[in-house]
Amino acid sequence: MPPLVREGFGPGPDAPGDYLGAAAEHGALQVIGTQLCDESGTPIQLKGVSTHGIQWFPTYPKHTVYHLAYDWGIDVIRPAMYVEDYKDDAYWAGYIAEPEYMTNKLTEIIDEALDLDIYVLVDWHIHNNPNNFTTQAVRFFEDMATQYGGYPNIMYEICNEPEGVSWADVKNYANTVIPAIRAIDPDNLIIVGTQDWSQRIDLAAADPLTGYTNIMYALHFYAGEHFSWVQERGNNALSSGLPIFVSEWGGSDYSGGDNGLFFQNESEILVDWMNDNNISWMNWSFSNKDETSAAVKPGVRLLGPWADQDLTQSGIMVKGMIKD
Ligand code: MG
Repeated sequence: MPPLVREGFGPGPDAPGDYLGAAAEHGALQVIGTQLCDESGTPIQLKGVSTHGIQWFPTYPKHTVYHLAYDWGIDVIRPAMYVEDYKDDAYWAGYIAEPEYMTNKLTEIIDEALDLDIYVLVDWHIHNNPNNFTTQAVRFFEDMATQYGGYPNIMYEICNEPEGVSWADVKNYANTVIPAIRAIDPDNLIIVGTQDWSQRIDLAAADPLTGYTNIMYALHFYAGEHFSWVQERGNNALSSGLPIFVSEWGGSDYSGGDNGLFFQNESEILVDWMNDNNISWMNWSFSNKDETSAAVKPGVRLLGPWADQDLTQSGIMVKGMIKD
């Protein structure tokens, strides 16, 4: 494994004089009806970015997230902590193989979010049946809730994109993990992934979880692939009373865009729809991976600051959408 802390890149940027992080401004989040609200009950829309896998595209301590907060104005950061990273018939990175390493990478970013007064989404980044790792998830989220549940900044995403599993099975998982979190942290926002890569909010709307507060449901989409159904399924979910949070969307097709295709027009239409409906969103991904959904060009460091020439079409577009 590479060293956890990268040395020699200096102390990082200073905060602008007028800097005010979203969590300092809005405090503890709460869900009222379908709407995410701030501590006073005022509706709020959070905009931010997700990293790519923190084991593959690590942020630079004191630099990357600071520049995103100061220069881009993100309200929230989502460090993508992969659960499984399977290769040659073995787990060789990700939380299952390297829990201490991955947790350290994650908490480094959480601590930076606290320092910056922004929100942070703790992402159990699974692409599988989440029930395969319920024991590990409970232990992980109990640790996170114990360390961070007292801060308004923390949000929990308990299963990124369930695959090959029914909504009923996802509910079973959620009904184990959520009570474990709530026993320690009674109030911070919990986002629940939905069947089929967090696309089937319609199934969640027909059969939601019951008995909890401050729960939202994940809707993920890639504008080049999923354009046709997003608004209809989203509007129907909201009409049914289901609170939704777009914890991941990208302007590529579902692959992330390794085919070079990018869908700016479709992205703008869907972002306008989210903004019109006060739906919080996070773009995938703030990385320099060689694919069109990545914000930074391949070969440009994630150290920051980033001029427009350092950014991809997606990066320039998303930076503008966050600043709006
Ligand atoms: Mg709490």
